[in-house]
Amino acid sequence: ESSTNRHQGVGIVGAGLVGCLAALAFAAKGYSVTLFELRSDPKTDPSSNNLRSINLAVSSRGIRALKYVDEEMADRILEHITPMKGRMIHDVTGTKQESQLYGLFGECINSVDRSFLNDCLLDEIRHSDIKLLFNHKLIKLAHLEEDSEIPSMTFIDTSLPHSEPKTFEFDYLVGADGAFSQFRYQMQKFVRMNFSQNYVDMQYLELYIPPNDDPKAESKFAIDANHLHIWPRHNFMLIALANKDGSFTSTFFSPWSVIEAIKSTEEWLAFFKANFPDAYKLMGEERLSSVFENHPRGALMQVDVYPYHTPNGRAILIGDAAHSMVPFYGQGMNCGFEDVRVLMESIDKNNGDITKSFKTYTDARKKDLNAICKLAMDNFNEMSSKVTSPWFLLRKKIDYTLGRYANGVFFTWLPLYPMISFRDDIPYSKALEIEERQHRILNGVQAGGIAAIAIFGLVKLVQAWDKFGRSHL
Ligand code: FAD
Repeated sequence: ESSTNRHQGVGIVGAGLVGCLAALAFAAKGYSVTLFELRSDPKTDPSSNNLRSINLAVSSRGIRALKYVDEEMADRILEHITPMKGRMIHDVTGTKQESQLYGLFGECINSVDRSFLNDCLLDEIRHSDIKLLFNHKLIKLAHLEEDSEIPSMTFIDTSLPHSEPKTFEFDYLVGADGAFSQFRYQMQKFVRMNFSQNYVDMQYLELYIPPNDDPKAESKFAIDANHLHIWPRHNFMLIALANKDGSFTSTFFSPWSVIEAIKSTEEWLAFFKANFPDAYKLMGEERLSSVFENHPRGALMQVDVYPYHTPNGRAILIGDAAHSMVPFYGQGMNCGFEDVRVLMESIDKNNGDITKSFKTYTDARKKDLNAICKLAMDNFNEMSSKVTSPWFLLRKKIDYTLGRYANGVFFTWLPLYPMISFRDDIPYSKALEIEERQHRILNGVQAGGIAAIAIFGLVKLVQAWDKFGRSHL
């Protein structure tokens, strides 16, 4: 037997990073909010925080959205980040080289602990009027047809052995239940939704570099904390981001065929030692063996959805549920946080008319989400291979030098990475457009440079030939 509860306001599914921020944002606007989460409460069940990827890079779009919702909360969170000013490349001999600074003027992206961030947001929620229900698994959405006014969601309580489905009615519904969204699946019954889910041939495996245990060491960090460390090996790579306690969370990305070809712990250790000798030393044989034997291998995929709202303007999808992307630009959460800010600003612009805002959000947001999903995919190639190419590094140098000095005097030059990570005032699609234009210009300059060198060489050859000819007359 199912019971129905009528609530005014907004019902949100998923208390991950994006759902929590959305709940706080709606509550800050004065709406009554109920937040449902499948997991159990991490306060009473610590294993519930066992989420993928231990730390994340938060950059300006994410920070702006946090500040938009609550400036003081953002400041409290930002006290616990580790800034990363650029990439540190480790070659196969273990030699390290700072390859590229991220910002034009010293701006940093920031490593933050995922469960710490999620817990901070949940704590804010606990101190607010938001109703937070753990162990609630969404199983059904209803009344989202064009003429329906009061949508509903049905849940089962996973803490009970035989839970009766419970139905809740709200004015508005928000789906923030992640890449494998049940909300999205349910929405498809009411919306002519285009939807695609593409797995990329890539797995990730999480590893760990412990803090420096040498009491005489200058730093508790075994490698520099203020860089994102990359061990690029063309079709696979290792990365590492610092944690506050002196450790690093490291991630090994490779095609499935690479990891699946490794059949035993001994082979894994040999593979790791040959490709990442310095990381091998830092992690230690025992830890590496345990990772290979026990850690899960994660799959990576892109999700593309259109539209994000239902025809009656009563439900919307945000965060990974709407646009799961590969993690190579470090923008998945940042973009999800930006979804929340963009949606809230749209509600402001429409004088609190949520239905209208849900309806206009899709068309306003789609091109930006397409752009960042594409950039995320392209960035794997940059991180795993291009960062070792002298041509690429030279182009980057020119790109960044132009960015630093061509700064609105006669014309403005904006390198892509700083636009995505530090210029939250430039929408993703606009950043991509600017980058494509600048790329064409740099290609032109490069082709011009090659042509000039070739012409110069040819002239020199003709002159030499002429001299040779005359001397033999
Ligand atoms: P999720 O975090 O997936 O949260 C969804 C929530 O919904 C979960 O709590 C889940 O339990 C709940 N839920 C699911 N189903 C139901 C249901 N039926 N009923 C009720 N609740 C449900 N992003 C960055 O910005 N920077 C990075 O550096 C970065 N690094 C990453 C590295 C890796 C290896 C990976 C995989 C991702 C990375 N990301 C990064 C992306 C980032 O993790 C995601 O974009 C972000 O977690 C999305 O948040 P979300 O709240 O939309 O979804």
